[in-house]
Amino acid sequence: MDHLPIFLDVRGQRALVVGGGTLAARKADLLARAGADLTVLAPDMNDDLARVAAEFEINHKQGDLSADDVNGCVIVFGASNDHAINLKVHELATAAGILVNISDTTDLCDFIMPAIVDRSPLLISISSGGATPLLTRMLKARFETTIPAAYGRLAEFAGSYRDRVKEAITNMARRRRFWETMIAGPVAEHLFSGQEDEATALMDKLLKDAAVEGDEAADGEVYLVGTGPGDPDLLTFRALRLMQQADVVLYDRLIGDGILNLVRRDADRIYVGKMKEDHSVPQEEISEMLTRLAREGKRVLRLKGGDPFVFGRGGEEIATLADNGINFQVIPGVTAANGCATYAGIPLTHRDHAQGYIVVTGHEKDGELGLDWKNLIQPRQTVVIYMGLTSLGTITDGFLSHGADPETPAAVIENGTRVGQRVITGTLRSLLGKATEAEIKSPALIIIGSVVTLRDKLAWFERGDNA
Ligand code: SAH
Repeated sequence: MDHLPIFLDVRGQRALVVGGGTLAARKADLLARAGADLTVLAPDMNDDLARVAAEFEINHKQGDLSADDVNGCVIVFGASNDHAINLKVHELATAAGILVNISDTTDLCDFIMPAIVDRSPLLISISSGGATPLLTRMLKARFETTIPAAYGRLAEFAGSYRDRVKEAITNMARRRRFWETMIAGPVAEHLFSGQEDEATALMDKLLKDAAVEGDEAADGEVYLVGTGPGDPDLLTFRALRLMQQADVVLYDRLIGDGILNLVRRDADRIYVGKMKEDHSVPQEEISEMLTRLAREGKRVLRLKGGDPFVFGRGGEEIATLADNGINFQVIPGVTAANGCATYAGIPLTHRDHAQGYIVVTGHEKDGELGLDWKNLIQPRQTVVIYMGLTSLGTITDGFLSHGADPETPAAVIENGTRVGQRVITGTLRSLLGKATEAEIKSPALIIIGSVVTLRDKLAWFERGDNA
């Protein structure tokens, strides 16, 4: 993060804008709307500035800039088209330790101005740190169109109930849920359609009911959510919604930052990652932790790479929850086989190549793969192997010693669907050498079968069209 995002309270406080043109007008308009005691210092005001001056009460000062104009201000803007004046503004403000912004001169700015979407009291501010103003503008346009104007009214309405709700519902988890019901439910609908009285009546009733329910902790719940193989865009809507509701999140190493960033900001985060040989938190302990947190009334989010029920031990985790009478939901995700195959341009089935695919684990148990080779080596069948990188040599040897054609096409996909995805293709004979040479690392998925040859034609992810 290059900047600290804050919303500054300038109501009744002195602020200065130096300059009489459109840039000055924009700053003056924002400051005046935020209630600052604003002085504009400029020989003349152009039409834009004059309009601001007509709408709000601002002090217009002519003449030379002096330290007195700056001192005592909370914030100062230099927006003159005379660079020498701007330099002086910067110098005086800096000497007085006041935050200063000089238009279009990044070097002379203590802070930058974001693009804003104003649904007061709801305010969205967007910044790319000056790197891509175009992106900022596009995002602003998107917010402008997707956030109804009535959201401001909703925020205001909620604000007017804040103290009463706090008093009536002292348990924090319960209070949060009260607000969620209010914001996503009929109260909001009434407000959006302009029925303020109905909204008020309903809100009063909800509040009364909530006060009657008393203060026992709310029931906790566990969400076992499959997040897909890595690309956050592959999340389901349901996954995203629950991620936004959670009070605490348990995640492991397969969950990338792109996905973690979508979890509610103030949810507690617990890393329970498993590296292969180093089981940092044993499975039983994770299951116990889920149970304990849910008993405390928390909404517990357990994030799983891919799908929770495909080599994800999801079944074990929820068995413990079921034994303990804890409520839970399981949300499917795109499993690695599907995500990686698609992003690598390898269809798992294809009328000319494979009638079906089989999914197995290459994880050795007690030094044994325990694979049913006869079942794997079948004509017109694609084999997908999870957790097979460490035993890749044993796997390809197993295929060959059980009669598979050494020229059978095969691929390894590293970091499938993520930025930095790598795909190595070869044959059963050559794959190990190629993967070793390319230093392929985990997570990696192995695909064996003639469908791999289709990749040359179908690999869309690496074409750059989807960057
Ligand atoms: N529940 C997960 C699988 C967990 S087992 C799912 O449904 O996908 C972990 C294995 O999944 C890894 O060893 C690897 O073989 C595979 N895997 C998961 N994400 C992957 C990715 N982004 N790229 C390649 N392989 C991946």
